[in-house]
Amino acid sequence: MSAQKQVRVRFAPSPTGDLHVGNIRTALFDWAYARHTGGKFIFRIEDTDRERVTDEYIQAAIQTLKWLGLNWDEGPEVGGPFGPYLQSQRLDIYTEWANKFLAQKDAYHCYCSAEELEERRKVQMAKNQAPGYDGKCRDLSSTQIEQYKAQGRKPVVRMKMPAGETVFTDLIRGEVKFEHKYVPDFVLMRADGSPLYTLAVAVDDVLMKVTHILRGEDLLSSTPRQIRVYQAMGVATSDYPAFAHLPFVMGQDNAKLSKRNGEVSIAWYKDAGYLPEAICNYLALLGWSPGDDVENVTMQQICDLFTVERVNSSPARFDMKKLQAINGDKIRALSQENFLTYAKEWLVKSKVISATESEIALLKRALPIIQERVATLAEIPQLLKFLFVKTFEIETESLTQIKNDSAKEVLQKSLAVLAQLENWNHSAIETELRKLLIEGMGLKPRVAFGPVRIAVTGSTISPPLFESLELLGKPESISRIESAIKLI
Ligand code: GLU
Ligand code: ZN
Repeated sequence: MSAQKQVRVRFAPSPTGDLHVGNIRTALFDWAYARHTGGKFIFRIEDTDRERVTDEYIQAAIQTLKWLGLNWDEGPEVGGPFGPYLQSQRLDIYTEWANKFLAQKDAYHCYCSAEELEERRKVQMAKNQAPGYDGKCRDLSSTQIEQYKAQGRKPVVRMKMPAGETVFTDLIRGEVKFEHKYVPDFVLMRADGSPLYTLAVAVDDVLMKVTHILRGEDLLSSTPRQIRVYQAMGVATSDYPAFAHLPFVMGQDNAKLSKRNGEVSIAWYKDAGYLPEAICNYLALLGWSPGDDVENVTMQQICDLFTVERVNSSPARFDMKKLQAINGDKIRALSQENFLTYAKEWLVKSKVISATESEIALLKRALPIIQERVATLAEIPQLLKFLFVKTFEIETESLTQIKNDSAKEVLQKSLAVLAQLENWNHSAIETELRKLLIEGMGLKPRVAFGPVRIAVTGSTISPPLFESLELLGKPESISRIESAIKLI
């Protein structure tokens, strides 16, 4: 590869479900590498398996990348010079190449049935031989071929894997070697004429002039087959894309990340109130480090700092707590305006407000006291609903906590003091309640303020109490404390 050649990186998912953490970590590294080098980021949908890849999943994948801010230079919706970027629209291209490989004798028709292959596999296993296609159809006589055809057999197209080995330098793992005795002749086209992954991916990477393939380590073992396809296509060795296989993402328990040991779908994180920039920041740290123990990075910094040299070859472990902490940091870093936009969206979605002018005015006053405190956007409705509810009710759980004489006394005395308070602001409220409950009655803060919190917010979890009382206003606060006393 010549030094000036423009970097072209692709993210090529097969969306058979919602994109998961591992896919997006790959997409992020692809994107960051392209941006860092001033190259192109290509988004290609590998949807040749139309039984498992649906239009819905493809749309969801497109939306997820957009939401995360991983904008692509070529791909669905934006097009590009090497399109189409959906493999299902490129089937003729794969057929053409498969036919070329047949004509060149790099590939051949294989007539073996699934049952025959299975039979022979069992024999190999019994003899302790490496299982895999044995080359039976490599040199069929024309009589044999006629016979198979007469039997109505439909052949697959199989690539010849020559003797020897494939060696390449993985940018992350160093030199990787595959002996071909463990890489049997492989299928390029099914009997129905549909291409297999290895054919489609290799042909597209060549035709789309991809220079770097950064992808999950699970695909490492498919590399020698792809390289074989490049050879058959006549690509010069110096023009092969460079490979960088990213380390696995493990769950908290060190098993491969799955639904069982961590949430895997990015859609889940969105619904749980995570910010796109927090997800990207956190995923960037899964296997890569910006150096100097830096953990909080912006999208711009990810692009500026990303190099493959700083990608670790050992598996990365997914840590939900860390993601949450980063999400909290990103929420605190939001401008007031952006935080308002998110809060509004979440409160409307959970039907706490309908975004009337007066609600927004109150919301604007309330947000500064919670922006510091929430780790996810999903906490906002729960924290603020007491300010907006039409019919206020105390949560059942919390109500049981104030059904006792001491809570009743606290509420009665607080009511008397607050009813007298003229200047209704949080510091005056705090001064009065402290004087009464802590200094006067000698109560611990939790015992003192807990009942008031439950009475006015309906819950043990709320924004800071005195600010909450101020926001709620005097008449409503008084009336809620009165009602609570009646319930005890
Ligand atoms: N389409 C493949 C997958 O989703 C990945 C292709 C590649 O990156 O080589 O597993
Ligand atoms: Zn065969």
